[in-house]
Amino acid sequence: MRPARALIDLDALRHNYRLARELGGARALAVVKADAYGHGALRCAEALAAEADGFAVACIEEALELRAAGIRAPILLLEGFFAADELALIVEHDLWCVVHSLWQLQAIERTPLARPLTVWLKLDSGMHRVGFAPADYRAAHARLQAGGKVEKIVLMSHFARADELDCPRSAEQLAAFRAASAGLGGEVSLRNSPALLGWPEVPSDWVRPGVMLYGASPFAQAQEAAARLKPVMTLESQIIAVRELPAGEPVGYGARFVSARPTRVGVVAMGYADGYPRHAPDGTPVAVDGVRAALIGRVSMDMLTVDLTDLPQAGLGSRVELWGAQVPVAALAAAAETIPYQLLCNLKRVPRYYR
Ligand code: PLP
Repeated sequence: MRPARALIDLDALRHNYRLARELGGARALAVVKADAYGHGALRCAEALAAEADGFAVACIEEALELRAAGIRAPILLLEGFFAADELALIVEHDLWCVVHSLWQLQAIERTPLARPLTVWLKLDSGMHRVGFAPADYRAAHARLQAGGKVEKIVLMSHFARADELDCPRSAEQLAAFRAASAGLGGEVSLRNSPALLGWPEVPSDWVRPGVMLYGASPFAQAQEAAARLKPVMTLESQIIAVRELPAGEPVGYGARFVSARPTRVGVVAMGYADGYPRHAPDGTPVAVDGVRAALIGRVSMDMLTVDLTDLPQAGLGSRVELWGAQVPVAALAAAAETIPYQLLCNLKRVPRYYR
């Protein structure tokens, strides 16, 4: 079998969930959208089922997958619904639903419902993606309360720049939220992973940790609370061929890397078809048998190449970690100028093994 694989540590997932709850001092919805950021939504939800206060997903398809597997905890649809005919299913499967736009509110008003909904009413406090504008928020709240279709409203908003710890934008968004929601009462949900880890002053009755559950830091720089996370996924493979090259020889497509010295090249069974970023530059960290080494040459579809010149013990069959405890996924993301979220979600083809 091809040695490329992802090992998923469900104890680490539980550790990170507990940390989110501890930091938040609040109930926590485990965000398991996008197949739990590539970790397998079902397995992750099952691993957390005994203790999670609830789950959050992007859409009803993701929620129904969890319900079909017997997950009974609350499940929040982070984007709400996309058409009014989903409302019957939302009621039938006892799902919670974000309402972010006037058309959704109108759909709820128009649609007969067998039972009242739990709605998370989203304010656009400054991200300008979805959510009611501050000037419209109270009116939306009043309409939902008056319409008899809703039994509970949670007030929510989402930060655009909570991963930038020196940026004043999160404080501005918090002030906008406070102003728009003053006097409305009820529970509040504001904190995603960077807000949980980096913004202790932000109130939240419900927190919504995503990437931190999987042990990845949302910050570009080292951060104290993020250092307590345990990586959940280890992406690993093996050296499947070794090349000895003199100085001056190119490696891989496009000859991006040319050896400056006699070089021992290790070929690893992992490529961009597995989700490893094709644009990772020379020098991107990997770990070979537990020792840091560097990517050299362009990443191919199924293979990539690493410099083994200074690792004489390494050779055929050596274990290569692409990300995990030795190479934080955030370190690869920084090298490849992307974010851990995208790397994790893009994982493909690689079989996952759980422990
Ligand atoms: N809450 C909302 C509304 C989201 O859209 C997301 C993810 O995009 C999250 C929470 C989780 O964010 P993070 O993975 O940064 O914790």
